[in-house]
Amino acid sequence: MIVAVASGKGGTGKTTVAASLATIWDRPVVAVDLDVEEPNLDLFLQPVIAGTAVAHMMVPVVAEAKCTYCGACSELCQFKAISVFNQVIITFPEMCHGCGGCMAICPEKAISAGQRELGEISWGRAGEIGFLAGRLRIGEAMSPPLMRLVKARLGHMLAAESGDAIIDAPPGVSCPAVNAVLDSDVILLVTEPTPFGVYDFQLAWEAFTPLGKPMGAVVNRAGLGNDAIYRFCREKGLPILAEIPYDRAIAEAYARGRIIATVSPGLKATFVSLRDQVRDLAKPGQSREAARA
Ligand code: SF4
Ligand code: SF4
Repeated sequence: MIVAVASGKGGTGKTTVAASLATIWDRPVVAVDLDVEEPNLDLFLQPVIAGTAVAHMMVPVVAEAKCTYCGACSELCQFKAISVFNQVIITFPEMCHGCGGCMAICPEKAISAGQRELGEISWGRAGEIGFLAGRLRIGEAMSPPLMRLVKARLGHMLAAESGDAIIDAPPGVSCPAVNAVLDSDVILLVTEPTPFGVYDFQLAWEAFTPLGKPMGAVVNRAGLGNDAIYRFCREKGLPILAEIPYDRAIAEAYARGRIIATVSPGLKATFVSLRDQVRDLAKPGQSREAARA
């Protein structure tokens, strides 16, 4: 089972929820940081890193001696990453999505595969928890290609350990956020009951609902703000699976990089219950919330 922990905006406590959930998971699990622009799951889990690899993506390299400047590659590329002007051909590697279409279409076989560095992938263990993370190279704009490589490695890790995965997804509703939740079995949306939190939560709900995956909400800093998030969830039939109170002890633990599920027996029980409900959600139509209704 793959659980994606997502949020409409940054700063809601998404990473701390992902770390806590991984900590109380009672089956083999890999905690995955797919927030590759700003990875920080390692700050909570403190993994021992076993290996790293530089991640690359394919970009076209043109052998101009073979090129007839027919323009077929330029016409094909939807991202304007290769252009032909009269007798000049130019590539823009930073705009290339690595689809390989230009290579396939070139009648002269003038295009070969080069490489662009995307960032780094690291893996290891935090005690019983497997750990995997991507970190985008500074200055690199495209995170989905790196995320795809991290997910490919995750596939190998899960096959080797036959375990589950908990993904810390990027915040927001843009392409990287959707990409991060695409392969998940359950999406957990973490929010806080503030006006900004509610607004961005609604956007996330709208973005992820068409994917047709089971979703549940976690309300962090419960007790702050107003009840708009509860009304929205009721209206949309979205179960609230856990509430984490607005509490100084939790804020201090968070600031020190502690796992909040370990702060008190009550919080541990909250995350154990969250874990069980997530598993129920993964079986369509069998959530405990639904069963109680
Ligand atoms: S398709 Fe090949 S031959 Fe035509 S312009 Fe592009 S690189 Fe040159
Ligand atoms: S690989 Fe795809 S995205 Fe990149 S230049 Fe070629 S056609 Fe464009």
